[in-house]
Amino acid sequence: LLVLIGSLGLLSGVICYRLLGRPASPRTQLQGALNAKQFEPFVQPIVNATDGRWSGVEVLMRWRLPGEGLIRPDLFIPMAEQTGLILPMTRDLMRQVAEALVPHATELPPHFHVGFNISAAHCNDPRLLDDCRDFLARFPPGSIELWLELTERQLIEPTEQTDLLFMQLDSIGVKVAIDDFGIGHASLNYLQRFKVDALKIDQSFIKRIGADTLSAHLLDTLVELATKLEIDLIAEGVETAAQRDYLRALHVRYLQGYFFGRPMPIGEFIHAHRHKRDT
Ligand code: C2E
Ligand code: CA
Ligand code: CA
Ligand code: CA
Repeated sequence: LLVLIGSLGLLSGVICYRLLGRPASPRTQLQGALNAKQFEPFVQPIVNATDGRWSGVEVLMRWRLPGEGLIRPDLFIPMAEQTGLILPMTRDLMRQVAEALVPHATELPPHFHVGFNISAAHCNDPRLLDDCRDFLARFPPGSIELWLELTERQLIEPTEQTDLLFMQLDSIGVKVAIDDFGIGHASLNYLQRFKVDALKIDQSFIKRIGADTLSAHLLDTLVELATKLEIDLIAEGVETAAQRDYLRALHVRYLQGYFFGRPMPIGEFIHAHRHKRDT
C-alpha cells in the first residue's frame, strides 16, 4: 500500500511538473491549489433501494487545474494525506458544500445524507469535531444528516482520544460508515468501538454479482452480519439493473453507482433532483 501511495504521489508530482512547467514540492503545489480554490466538490446520489428515491449524496473531491480540466482524487489525495493538507482541504470542501446546499435544504427530503470521505489523519485531530458541528449548524435542524466515510484500507488505531472523538461525533448526530468494506480487516470490535452506523460494500463485490458463487456467498454473509449488528448497508459501484435487482432482493438498504447517477457538480445535482421529483 505504501508503495502504491508513494508512486501515486510521485506520479502526481510528475503530472504537476509537466502541467505547470516548474518543479514544486507536493506540499507547495497543493497549498497553492487550495489558496486558489481549485478543489471543488462533486456529489453522487445515494438511492433508497426500495423506492429508488435519492436519499443522500457522497461528496467526492475534484481538482480543477486551469487549462487541464479535472484531476481524479486518487492522483492527489494520497499526497494530501502525506502532507497533512487533507485536513484544511476537507474543511474547505465542507464549507463549499454547505454554502451550495443550504439554500436548497427545504427542497431535499428530510434527513438527507451528506457523506464526506475522511482520512485516518482526521481522527487524530480534535478540530474534526468542530468542523462537523459548524457544518451541521448551517442547516435547518433535521434537514440533513452528516455522514463520515472511513476507509477500511487505512484502519484507525483506537486510542482514548479516538474513543472520545467518536463518542462526541455520535452525540452530535454524526453518522459513521466504513468505506470499501470487505477488502480490509475491520473486526467486530472495531465496528463497535467507532460506533459504526453503516458499511459500504466494496465495489469489487458488486462487480462480481452473477459471476461467481463465492462472492454471492460473501454478499449474503455480509448482509446477515449487518442485519444482526443493526448496521445499515450501502452498495456502491452499482452499474446495471441486474445488480440493482440482486441487491434489492438481498434487502441492502442504499445503493450508489453509475446506474443511478455519476458524480456531478452540486448545481447540476439540484437541477436533476428537481427534475426527478417533478416527473
Ligand atoms: P471512494 O470513496 O470509494 O469513492 C467511490 C469512487 O467510485 C468514486 O471515485 C466514484 O466516482 C466511483 N464510482 C461511483 N460509482 C461508480 C460505478 O458505478 N462504477 C465505477 N467503476 N466507479 C464508480 P472518485 O471520485 O474518483 O474517488 C476515488 C477515491 O478518492 C474515493 O473512493 C476516495 O477514497 C477518494 N476521495 C475522493 N474524495 C475524497 C475526499 O474528499 N477526501 C478523501 N480523504 N478521499 C477522497
Ligand atoms: Ca467513499
Ligand atoms: Ca468505496
Ligand atoms: Ca454512530
